[in-house]
Amino acid sequence: MSDFYSQIMSTSKFSYNATVTKCVEVTGEIRILQVCLDNPGFNFKAGQYTMLGLLRDAPRISEAAPEDGDEEPSGDPMIRRAYSIASGSTQQDYLEFYVSIVSSGALTPRLFALSEGDRLHVAEKSKGIFTLDKVPEESNVLLVGTGTGLAPYVSMLRSEVLANRDRRIAVLHGASFSWDLGYRRELESLAQYNDHFRYIPTISRPQIDHDWQGFTGRLPPFLDDPSLEELCGFVLEPGASHVLLCGNPAMIEDATLRLEARGYRQKRPREPGNLHMEKYW
Ligand SMILES: Cc1cc2nc3c(=O)[nH]c(=O)nc-3n(C[C@H](O)[C@H](O)[C@H](O)COP(=O)(O)OP(=O)(O)OC[C@H]3O[C@@H](n4cnc5c(N)ncnc54)[C@H](O)[C@@H]3O)c2cc1C
Repeated sequence: MSDFYSQIMSTSKFSYNATVTKCVEVTGEIRILQVCLDNPGFNFKAGQYTMLGLLRDAPRISEAAPEDGDEEPSGDPMIRRAYSIASGSTQQDYLEFYVSIVSSGALTPRLFALSEGDRLHVAEKSKGIFTLDKVPEESNVLLVGTGTGLAPYVSMLRSEVLANRDRRIAVLHGASFSWDLGYRRELESLAQYNDHFRYIPTISRPQIDHDWQGFTGRLPPFLDDPSLEELCGFVLEPGASHVLLCGNPAMIEDATLRLEARGYRQKRPREPGNLHMEKYW
């Protein structure tokens, strides 16, 4: 670390305060990172996110594309981005993140260069309203996510959401290939042991993934498919269910149009609604 950055680290409130304790390579482009915070007491609700940060002089993986842009617009020497927390809110000893690389991005090629034992910054607080707080206990829930947009749902499922057996929950997860379907085994196993939970993975590029026997196609058309209700195990009806959308903004926009046509209404601050969303970019 250069003198310049050492000086910032000693003065900035954005110093490194966490250690990578586990690094799971789902594929070359997708990772699960577990980090342990120096100070205990980080609280969050399942579905929320926090900020991860690395200094600009942190190394990038060599395979990464040249970086878009030179400086953070804020002039902050720390590159910080939002990441949904994937660990359960009762798992207090570490935080887990499910991260996909943007090859020309500022932070992710640096996050992918981290190994176990390396240090990083985690914001002191969790943020966000993409939780089940405003979903009535008796409402069924469809959780729709592209890629790493699965992360907040993994947290919800690990946070005793399934303890309420009166509510039916389904996860509709879309990825390019079957090998990109992180957490697949965990979700299949949850579905096997919980009648009120269904896991529906789909891949969009089956022409390259010849062995895949499951669902294929992009997520939004599924929402118009009459067989979805049977797959979910409940009726997709605005009076009885809420839908959460997370990840790729194009998926969210397309899905929103289809769901609004069925009578769903976007949840907005201080306004009721049964359609909740978290756009990743
Ligand atoms: C609330 C919230 C939660 C988030 N949670 C997660 C998470 O759990 N896991 C995760 O991997 N990302 C998550 N993101 C996205 C994350 O914050 C970064 O934007 C992303 O990791 C890229 O950062 P970067 O610095 O490498 O790229 P940047 O230099 O910031 O981005 C370059 C450009 O790449 C595009 N881009 C950003 N993300 C993606 C992507 N995933 N795929 C394709 N293009 C993209 C955007 O157009 C962006 O302008 C979340 C974003 C938000 C707002």
